[in-house]
Amino acid sequence: MHDEIVLSVPTDRPEEAGTAALKALQFSFAMHDADVAVQVLAAKSERGRDWADCYRSEKAAWPEVARDHREQPSCLDEHCTWHIDKNETRSAA
Ligand SMILES: [Zn+2]
Repeated sequence: MHDEIVLSVPTDRPEEAGTAALKALQFSFAMHDADVAVQVLAAKSERGRDWADCYRSEKAAWPEVARDHREQPSCLDEHCTWHIDKNETRSAA
């Protein structure tokens, strides 16, 4: 079984969040009548500002459509969700 959790955490506390997540997600599990326990394992990926960033090193062929845009301090795209708090012109319109 494989699953994935994406956590949004303060940028100055990523290690604390990662340690807490691993502690919560790794354990030994056994049904009440089982003789053998199963070790539930977890691992952290690279950190990133969004999900795609977490896989950037593994998926080098993935297009980097949004990075240039995200690195702009603001933009004029009224539908942009990245700069939602940074575009003063939107709230004035
Ligand atoms: Zn934008």
